Amino acid sequence: MKLTRRDFMAGAAAFAAIAPRQFATAATLPREVDVAIVGGGAAGIAAARKVVASGRSAMIIEAGAGIGGRCTTDSTSFNTPFDRGARWLYNNDTNPLIDLARTARIDLVQGPRGQRIRIGRRNARAGETEEFLALVVRVNRAMQDAIHTRGDLPAAQALPNDVGDWAGTLDFQLGAMQTGKNLGDLSAADLLTLQPREPLSYCRQGVGTLIARLADKIPVALSTPVTAIKWSARDAQIETGAGTLTARAVIVTASASVLNAGVIKFTPELPKRQSDALSKLTLGSFDHIALELPGNPLGLARDDSFIEKSSDRRTGLLLANIGATSLCQVDVAGSFGAELSAQGEAAMVDFAAEWLRNLFGGDIAKAVQRKSVTRWNNVPYVMGAMSAALPGGQPSRRILMEPLGSLFFAGEAIHETQWGSVNGAWASGERAAEAAIRKVSGAKAEGPVGSTKERAKTKKRSSQSAPSHASPASKSRDRGLSWPGSGF
Ligand SMILES: Cc1cc2nc3c(=O)[nH]c(=O)nc-3n(C[C@H](O)[C@H](O)[C@H](O)COP(=O)(O)OP(=O)(O)OC[C@H]3O[C@@H](n4cnc5c(N)ncnc54)[C@H](O)[C@@H]3O)c2cc1C
Repeated sequence: MKLTRRDFMAGAAAFAAIAPRQFATAATLPREVDVAIVGGGAAGIAAARKVVASGRSAMIIEAGAGIGGRCTTDSTSFNTPFDRGARWLYNNDTNPLIDLARTARIDLVQGPRGQRIRIGRRNARAGETEEFLALVVRVNRAMQDAIHTRGDLPAAQALPNDVGDWAGTLDFQLGAMQTGKNLGDLSAADLLTLQPREPLSYCRQGVGTLIARLADKIPVALSTPVTAIKWSARDAQIETGAGTLTARAVIVTASASVLNAGVIKFTPELPKRQSDALSKLTLGSFDHIALELPGNPLGLARDDSFIEKSSDRRTGLLLANIGATSLCQVDVAGSFGAELSAQGEAAMVDFAAEWLRNLFGGDIAKAVQRKSVTRWNNVPYVMGAMSAALPGGQPSRRILMEPLGSLFFAGEAIHETQWGSVNGAWASGERAAEAAIRKVSGAKAEGPVGSTKERAKTKKRSSQSAPSHASPASKSRDRGLSWPGSGF
């Protein structure tokens, strides 16, 4: 049955080596601009496009040697593009990047419908898969009930007592694989607001290639880390090693973990409300271990995907024979993923080969040709994979939408229902740009970023998505388990 759904400098050098350079217009820093955008990932590019389209001047200031941030396609390690960060475009029907991909001449490929479960060296039987899906439904219901009676709590504290030997699978599938954090470190309320993410597609040329193409014609200063921002109600001075830029508004899209680390010095300091909000949105750990396995030693079909029945956290997600090539990917996440990635490439490859051998047999370690791993926790201007709220931290996403004079925040963390995704980052960038344009035009600020209509829509979607987590097992069976972040 198929389931549907610091080493600071060393890190910087590695990031620069894989970042695409050819698309963005490298620009020297002007002295003044209407809207400055710190960070050239999905949120920053979306924001800059909106500002430019409104007839105002915009400038992206990016620390890395290339554009894209957590959307980076490596086109040299293998014979096929390897997305080192995001791979899937979620919610095909509503995701604006789907249409933008077509405009950018990117080929979209329908993604597979979720994963199957492996139990030792065999596939789970239908009844076993049903058992796990029913458990997932019970867990969602238990989280909703617990929040209702006790308020927000770590998702793990809401689990039923009888998860038995599904404990590791559950923690991986609902926690680590979706958010980069284990259920014990996650706000149950935040987890329940995450929108389901299917159907999904991938870009044949890579999501990183798409995002870089969308930055075409946008002025970008690369390899220019912002070190300080002096902000006021009137304007902002953005300080870099290449000089200081004055902007009438600044949109900061650096990840919550980068901002928490104090990489950018704000003067005046951020209000406690905002700094507390940021501290509750730390990034989880999620990495890809990509292995070229010629000759299909796993005996699997194109884009076959598996998780395993596991009672502990040393587990992963397999995506095999990507796009009918010999590239296979094992994803590791959460506390185990963080520990493994800290040990380096060799340990990561050893784990993946051994894990695959245990599940499919054969001497996988010998079969491995080319290989490449990601270690997002070590990428200096990212510092992790995706934001996941700590218990009690769910309201932080909305708090960070509030404008602070000339200062606005955007990024994947600042979306209430699509956090941790490219489309969430994109929407957040566009919303922040609209607010910044209003500020630059002298219009009255509206409170939290986004129009009243859009906020009402978000609230409605949020309340609509909650019951689906408590849907009956039959509904869950139809939709099945999902891809990372797909909200089952
Ligand atoms: C391994 C992995 C797999 C993922 N899979 C998916 C997926 O399949 N689908 C999906 O939708 N999402 C996925 N995501 C999440 C998605 O990649 C992110 O949510 C999204 O790309 C974040 O975009 P952003 O613009 O908010 O942040 P970023 O991409 O982090 O962009 C911020 C930019 O700011 C720059 N910056 C930081 N500090 C400074 C500074 N001081 N000065 C100048 N520039 C600075 C950084 O270099 C970076 O380029 C995945 C993420 C990872 C890590």
